[in-house]
Amino acid sequence: MPLIVQKYGGTSVADPDRMRAVAENVAITRRHGTDVVVVVSAMGKATDNLIALAGQVSAARPGREMDMLLTTGERVSAALLTMALADLGVDAVSFTGSQVGIITDTVHGKAKIIEVRGDRVREALAVGKVCVVAGFQGVSTAKEITTMGRGASDLTASALAKALGADACEIYTDVTGVFTADPRLVPQARKLTRVSFDEMLEMAGAGSKVLALRSVEFARNHGVALHVRSAFTWEPGTWVTDEQDDRRGGKERAVEDPIISGVVTDTSESKVTVVGVPDRPGVSATLFEPLAAANINVDMIVQNTSTHGTTDISFTVPSADMTVAEDIVRRVADEVGAAGVTHDADIAKVSVVGAGMKSSPGIAATMFRTLADHGVNIEMISTSTIRISVVIAAADVERAARSLHTAFGLDSGADYGAPLPERR
Ligand code: ADP
Ligand code: ASP
Ligand code: MG
Repeated sequence: MPLIVQKYGGTSVADPDRMRAVAENVAITRRHGTDVVVVVSAMGKATDNLIALAGQVSAARPGREMDMLLTTGERVSAALLTMALADLGVDAVSFTGSQVGIITDTVHGKAKIIEVRGDRVREALAVGKVCVVAGFQGVSTAKEITTMGRGASDLTASALAKALGADACEIYTDVTGVFTADPRLVPQARKLTRVSFDEMLEMAGAGSKVLALRSVEFARNHGVALHVRSAFTWEPGTWVTDEQDDRRGGKERAVEDPIISGVVTDTSESKVTVVGVPDRPGVSATLFEPLAAANINVDMIVQNTSTHGTTDISFTVPSADMTVAEDIVRRVADEVGAAGVTHDADIAKVSVVGAGMKSSPGIAATMFRTLADHGVNIEMISTSTIRISVVIAAADVERAARSLHTAFGLDSGADYGAPLPERR
């Protein structure tokens, strides 16, 4: 019997009506003679609410206890969906990440998967049950409950699809697929029929949250094709596959031979600047080593030209890690004799991504000219072979994204379709 892994995000299971709608879809899939493993996220904004709640009782928020707390969100969804399935006469059983044997390392909040055992899922499938797995979580080699980073239910889905040898991995969400830009920010964005792993990796890495970065890394490394689609309209969505894979999503792309496949925006980072850093060997290492040791992902880094033996170093970190990062940076700045540390949370990163960039000169020039013409000031720049990113003021993000989308010929002429489901 074919096996499908279906993952439903927070908005897709946000309330009892949504939960029943998802149960209906699972039931239909099951009745088509398919084994189904469902991965669920926490309902609506449950994870954000739990994080806020923790902040109200604790400044320290120890990692172990945060993971104990946050994993409850997905557990609630899994139990409720399983109950809704029972009402439809579908024999289903819910599991936590730990119960299905998602074994991770011991880094709370950002744990990496070491192994997926999946025995209990296989046993349940073998007796005809639908399995509903709480996403985002696992159990560490030290037997502690862990979470795998924001958005990691996508990773749970791809990892289970691989471990179980699933025939498809469907990521159901609140948009109809992967678009040329976030359709909530750029209404003229269009849906891609398919996108390559490499492009999706750059889009996710640049901060597009439609798929969590590590789920795309995992899917690419293990050849798990992902089908991103809507849990509201149920229409076919976007296939994320190997460039060579013509079976999924067809050979044609929604946009013919695009040089740029998308514009990505990210407002989840903050900028830190260390001012007046003595310009001598080893200073950067002294600064970034403790940040790495604290598992803080430093993204863009810019060092100014040295004047009078000192320089300024600016870099971006996830805003969620800002408090920890700033403590570390202030300590190191003191140690190396820097003049001071400033930080700016009101920034946005805007990137253009496209495999065609490799063979097309002038993309950066067009990007910078477009931003200049729209009065957007660039604070930082970084590039990869198929991506150019800039940091700008958060207030300019919409203008920047829309103007770049138009400048690179990505706008759709069609009407914008049904309004997107509201996010609560
Ligand atoms: P889920 O809760 O289902 O995991 P997410 O909020 O994590 O959903 O991801 C879906 C959201 O990603 C969409 O609502 C959309 O606003 C945003 N998004 C950002 N970039 C894109 C893009 N290029 N294509 C589609 N959606 C995007
Ligand atoms: N609930 C978690 C989050 O909000 C995981 C997920 O939704 O994938 O990050
Ligand atoms: Mg998500």
